[in-house]
Amino acid sequence: MIKANDPALKSWIEVSKDSDFPIQNIPFGVFKTNNISERVGTRIGDKVVDLNALFVLGYLDNLPFQREDFDTDSLNEIMKHGKAATSDLRNRISKLFNSENTDLAGNAHHVEQVLFDVQNVEMCMPVKVGDYTDFYSSRDHATNVGTMFRDPDNALLPNWLHIPVGYHGRASSIIPTGKSIKRPKGQQKPNEDEGPVFGPCKLLDFELEMAFVTFDGKELGDSISTKEAKDYIFGMCIMNDWSARDIQKWEYVPLGPFLAKSFASSVSPWIVTMDALEPFSIDGPDQDPKVLPYLEYEGKHHYDIDLEVSIKPENSEETTVCNSNYKYMYWNMVQQLAHHTVNGCNVRCGDMMASGTISGPERSSFGSMLEISWKGTKPFKMKDGSERKFLQDNDTVIMRGHCEKDGVRIGFGEVSTKILPAD
Ligand code: MN
Repeated sequence: MIKANDPALKSWIEVSKDSDFPIQNIPFGVFKTNNISERVGTRIGDKVVDLNALFVLGYLDNLPFQREDFDTDSLNEIMKHGKAATSDLRNRISKLFNSENTDLAGNAHHVEQVLFDVQNVEMCMPVKVGDYTDFYSSRDHATNVGTMFRDPDNALLPNWLHIPVGYHGRASSIIPTGKSIKRPKGQQKPNEDEGPVFGPCKLLDFELEMAFVTFDGKELGDSISTKEAKDYIFGMCIMNDWSARDIQKWEYVPLGPFLAKSFASSVSPWIVTMDALEPFSIDGPDQDPKVLPYLEYEGKHHYDIDLEVSIKPENSEETTVCNSNYKYMYWNMVQQLAHHTVNGCNVRCGDMMASGTISGPERSSFGSMLEISWKGTKPFKMKDGSERKFLQDNDTVIMRGHCEKDGVRIGFGEVSTKILPAD
């Protein structure tokens, strides 16, 4: 067991029972305050820990990091040191905040410089994303979409059970929680017999996804095997991969999604490391037909992560519209990364790869309004009496996720995004 994952560990920082951030988590993120610029931090309970300050005060000595790795606006600099170094960093932080350790806890002057109340910080985009890839790896989601738009009897396209299908998305428009989006505009073709029209998207949707970020991969021309893939993945966050369904429907043949997806994708602010998630790994589904040898894998690479989506209309309470789980993935991360690089494509530090919409088998676990409202044919009843087929202006969409086992809860916090009207 990784020492920092020991369920028996306690921190000298108070952590409430339902917190996503016990000492067993130690995620990484980027924050700023009114007085200090962006820097790398972690979170325990309701305290954000300034890793730049920890470094300056000498608590991160004898690790392979420099001050510039923490005094910066992304996690890319610490990620450049690779898996072993970031694991050591997490273990060091775990030791420092252990209730039995007084090195830092005993120095009130230092504690004051290092800890911030979470309500006094602003969370920023955690990673400088170079390339963003979106997979399509939930079988229930692919089946639902295939059933709605093609043929219920042949819902999955012939390649789906053989290839972790994906497409190259847009990195520049990935934004952190709290940043509003504007309803996108674009071409739609609402009527079969008439030409296309231009205007604000009418079928705006969320996609419940999780994303992983990579360390530097191999040289162009080399591949990462399923066996090696784990060493190239830093951690995960929740992603809301916004989608404009009407724009998508008109544009996506023959080359796939373009402007329907590229206007925004929102992420939760803390990257939870694969180390922290290890206790929650589980077996994946049987894959039949048998996959090609380069996609075979050993070990547990699926994860039991509860996910939920709620919609909060303006001046009203939020309603949960979806309870799903990352375990519903058919293809896992090591297969996705092996597939991504099997042709020699190089991945770089800070690349982000999303799962695709994560739907389970029931309506209550569908990860998009497209599926929940079944293309708009089954409106969803909200707590305030209003109905949703798709998203309305001034709705806030909130996604949350956490794992729980042996009394330890490891969570991601939330990604919360308000939709503003189109110009
Ligand atoms: Mn997507």
